Amino acid sequence: MLYWDYAAATPPYEDVVKTMEQIMKLHYANPSSLHRAGSEAAKLIRRSREVCAAALSVQPKEILFTSGATESNNLAIKGAALQYQSRGRHLITTEIEHPSVYESCLQLQRNGWEITFVAPDSTGMIDPERVATEVRRDTVLVSVMHVNNEIGTMQPLVEIGRLIKSVNPRTLFHVDGVQGYGKLAVDLKGWKADLYSLSPHKIRGPRGAGLLYIKEGIQLFPLLSGGSHEEGLRAGTENVPAIVASSKAVRISGEQREIFYARVLPLRDRLLRFLHSVPEFVINSREDGAPHIVHFSYPGMKGEVFARKLEELGMAVSTRSACSSRLAEPSRVLLSMGKDVSVASGGIRISFGDSHTEEDVAALEKALITAVRALKIAEGGMK
Ligand code: PMP
Repeated sequence: MLYWDYAAATPPYEDVVKTMEQIMKLHYANPSSLHRAGSEAAKLIRRSREVCAAALSVQPKEILFTSGATESNNLAIKGAALQYQSRGRHLITTEIEHPSVYESCLQLQRNGWEITFVAPDSTGMIDPERVATEVRRDTVLVSVMHVNNEIGTMQPLVEIGRLIKSVNPRTLFHVDGVQGYGKLAVDLKGWKADLYSLSPHKIRGPRGAGLLYIKEGIQLFPLLSGGSHEEGLRAGTENVPAIVASSKAVRISGEQREIFYARVLPLRDRLLRFLHSVPEFVINSREDGAPHIVHFSYPGMKGEVFARKLEELGMAVSTRSACSSRLAEPSRVLLSMGKDVSVASGGIRISFGDSHTEEDVAALEKALITAVRALKIAEGGMK
């Protein structure tokens, strides 16, 4: 089976697996305990925070460890909304955010906050001017993702950050960086980002850990009540093995970013060229999208049916994102780009990793042709 779903989950680095095992065996003590074993575990967390801070060029005290980017996004959005109610109750996000951002905003909306959802253009790009015109005196936060998880569009974050702050310097800027880190340069200062979420399991780290960068001076209302872990912002005994292993994944994938890009981009370009040559397919990703995601549709064919056929042929793909792939409805992202229902229901996402080769892509291309032929014959037979 060839795995084409790196945007959903990645195989952990060898070093990550070894670290997890070692720490589970040796450093099981509670980092809050006063004895030596506890302080050693606490030291490991401190060190991991330094490693992640260095990778993002920020201060260690600006790094918060969470259980994953879903928690980081929830905390960034709801934590800021609750904390800064006296400034206003207006937030801005886009129609194409990950559910952990989108649903957090909808939850706030149901509870009296005003949310502006900015629509993308037909390629999934967010126009910075359209964001800026929505910023008001009472806008507490704007949340825009770095790279879209379904189609791979990269957003113009420098321009968005600059324009938000020029209208209202107090409006916080949150970036969901999950699909960008390890593939593209991260420039939190250049983006004027105040909050930034990361997910280690997308960069060959472990599951069960996440990161949130919180710029010094910003307060968030804690969503979890309990002990005083993570400076009182995130109660719960720390997941030491996952935190330490995450810091390794953040460091290694950050260091390998340019190698990853150079390796994967030609594969993506090759696949795009191939998809252009098949009349049955509609390509939904931009040519200049992120290097690891290609999304296309087979209009009139349910994405799930096509994905199942590809699985029979030895190819593991997604229809859009793993978090939404069990939903029966058409893709919210594609609909908001103005695609019709048959395109929005017939999507397939291919996401690349550093182990893929030209031969793998050739095998995928062959499987795609076989799948189209087989499904056409089956359709014809049903008529
Ligand atoms: N944001 C984006 C853009 C994602 O792709 C994902 C993972 N599907 C998340 C947030 C959530 O991350 P996690 O799986 O760590 O909760």
